[in-house]
Amino acid sequence: MTGATPDSKGVSRRTSAQGGADLKVDTPVQFVKGIGPERAKALGSEGIATVRDLLLILPRRYEDRSSLAPIKSLKAGVRTTVSGRIVAVSLKRARRMPIFEAMVEDFSGRIKCVFFGQAYLKESFKVGRRVIVHGAAEWDRYGGGLAFHSPDAEILDEADGGGGSAAEDGGLDEAIHMGRVVPVYEKRGMLLPKVWRRILTHLVRSLPQSFGSPDHLTPELRADLGVVGWREAIIAVHDPSPGDDLDALNRARSRGHLRLILEEFFLFALGLAAKRLDRRPGVVVRANEATRQTAKRVLPFPLTSAQKRVLKEIAADLESGREMNRLLQGDVGSGKTIVATLAMLLPVSSGKQAVLVAPTEVLADQHFITLSRVLAPVDLRVTRLSGRLRSKERKQALEAISSGEGQVIVGTHALFEPDVIFKSLALAIVDEQHRFGVIQRDELRRKGEGVHALVMTATPIPRTLALSFHGDLDTSVLDEKPPGRMPIRTSQRFEGQRGRIVDTARQHLDLGRQVYVVCPLIEESEKLADVRAVTRLSQEWAAWLPGARVGALHGRLPRDEKGAAMDAFVRGETQVLVSTTVIEVGVDVPNATLMVIEQAERFGVAQLHQLRGRVGRGRHPSECLLVTRGYLSDQAKQRIEAIVASEDGFFLAEKDLEIRGPGEFFGTRQSGRGLFQAGDPVRDRDLLIRARDIADGWWKTAAPDHPLRVYARGDEWTGRFGLSRVG
Ligand code: ADP
Ligand code: MG
Repeated sequence: MTGATPDSKGVSRRTSAQGGADLKVDTPVQFVKGIGPERAKALGSEGIATVRDLLLILPRRYEDRSSLAPIKSLKAGVRTTVSGRIVAVSLKRARRMPIFEAMVEDFSGRIKCVFFGQAYLKESFKVGRRVIVHGAAEWDRYGGGLAFHSPDAEILDEADGGGGSAAEDGGLDEAIHMGRVVPVYEKRGMLLPKVWRRILTHLVRSLPQSFGSPDHLTPELRADLGVVGWREAIIAVHDPSPGDDLDALNRARSRGHLRLILEEFFLFALGLAAKRLDRRPGVVVRANEATRQTAKRVLPFPLTSAQKRVLKEIAADLESGREMNRLLQGDVGSGKTIVATLAMLLPVSSGKQAVLVAPTEVLADQHFITLSRVLAPVDLRVTRLSGRLRSKERKQALEAISSGEGQVIVGTHALFEPDVIFKSLALAIVDEQHRFGVIQRDELRRKGEGVHALVMTATPIPRTLALSFHGDLDTSVLDEKPPGRMPIRTSQRFEGQRGRIVDTARQHLDLGRQVYVVCPLIEESEKLADVRAVTRLSQEWAAWLPGARVGALHGRLPRDEKGAAMDAFVRGETQVLVSTTVIEVGVDVPNATLMVIEQAERFGVAQLHQLRGRVGRGRHPSECLLVTRGYLSDQAKQRIEAIVASEDGFFLAEKDLEIRGPGEFFGTRQSGRGLFQAGDPVRDRDLLIRARDIADGWWKTAAPDHPLRVYARGDEWTGRFGLSRVG
């Protein structure tokens, strides 16, 4: 299997490239063999400026090309790598989708490679070219035999494109691309995967012995983490040795991967340890007899033992003399609001202020109403500040806040504004924290000296993942629901079963209960579409349930009307509330016992779980109907099945992770992708935990002026890990 063109090994002839001995981690990429000014510019725009950046572009996977399989030996469903020449190509269309086909032949036989929607391949997949194909062959639906469907394919003998000259780059370098375990890189910008392979292979092979490591790990830490040196790791991931375990490489568990990932996680964890373990001084707030009396008088029900435990944790923080930085995690309906209320009483009973911030107007209003009711017996007035206030009310609220007359304050992000000045803020509580960022939490804190922060969330994040989101916070968990809760019966219904769906709603209304109907938000591009959808749906429901009082609520209603629509439902004046997802978080109407989710296939697991959590809050049995339309994708089916099967937020979070796969669990920003270069917080959860434990231990014992401490507290850490985090 030879076929190198006469001008192969072009790269090695480059003269502009810097010789190995001068290479440093901060050498600009331009001077790396095979790159040059033009490619350097393109890489620069992707944030790849130095040799270090380049070396941290890790292969997406590895392929064993030391012994290629004969095409004849291919088996359906088994991932295999073959190589051959293209003997025929064709471009067809099926329902407007271009389908490109290439027939590849080796000494033993032929196989068809089918590529969907990739018409551009015809430019490079020319008859006569040598190609490497990797994938799992399948039985071809039309042609009878086996075929590859959109496999990974690499043309071996073509010019690279992307700024390198064809004469220099065009050749085939057998020793790099063939005959060994090869790294396979992602195509980035203009550079083909095999160009990456050549550049990085050459680069690591020319690293001088003295090549400095840019990392901060001392030999003792390396021993603690059980990892190899940086130079060795870099070489191992880019240029595997013959004996290396292919499977370990592909699972990112080779010695090289372990080193790079653990180092990165360790440094990340150090910064979190710095934030969690060395706290700034905080206002000292002590519970006294008066607080206990007040708490007793306001308590509407006995607390669960989980609520008591969490309150104790909070009280201990408040009197510790250090700022509290605590996360309260509790599934929907676990009773976080009363915990927040009682926590607020602590500073308030010693004359200080406490604030509760909610992510939506609807929820802020509800908290205002609840707190006002609960605190009425002890003559505490609640001050509200939201965007909804008229200017006179707003002025009054601002005055109350700055004079200290307002001690218990509730509102929305309007509270973050600069003209909101507190007299003596001691405790800031942020509800449904996932809707806010860290930055905002800190903004609120800056409104006082030594302000304690408590953030509350019901977003089910898998426990192991919570670390990368909330690693700088102490955590309290409400893992017990208030007594007497009945399970929510959840079922899937098809659009065609409308009669049955309406009957169910009728039964709930006949018992004096109330019903939510939720429909998905329509894309942003069609601004008024969700208004129309809600309006139409509420008319339909009014027609289906003659005599019932049906209200409508969506994000575009004027503020007053939004409040009025919600109030009417809270007071039971409307029996059915048709709404978009604005009611998703926090809303608490215990008399509502049926949640109908229209087009449930369009919601994610977490959202369905949150929405369902709006019912099952009182003494009556509750129900949730997931109404689906038409054909469901596999993922949609799995999501619906998961929700039907379980009410446990943490179970659902793990399930969600499984359904979606690591990369898509959250948006990029949230998943921590982009935050880490080598590690993946989902794939490498175990390593993240190990790194965290070692970092915590180190933080407690290391010398006070150790350079790593300085690093973890400093701007370099923030620049690398700090900004992209969500609180
Ligand atoms: P979430 O944790 O989702 O914010 P809420 O604080 O809204 O939950 O509480 C849900 C419901 O449970 C509310 O109606 C609340 O009054 C009630 N509740 C909370 N704690 C208890 C308790 N210990 N005993 C009885 N009911 C409780
Ligand atoms: Mg809540």
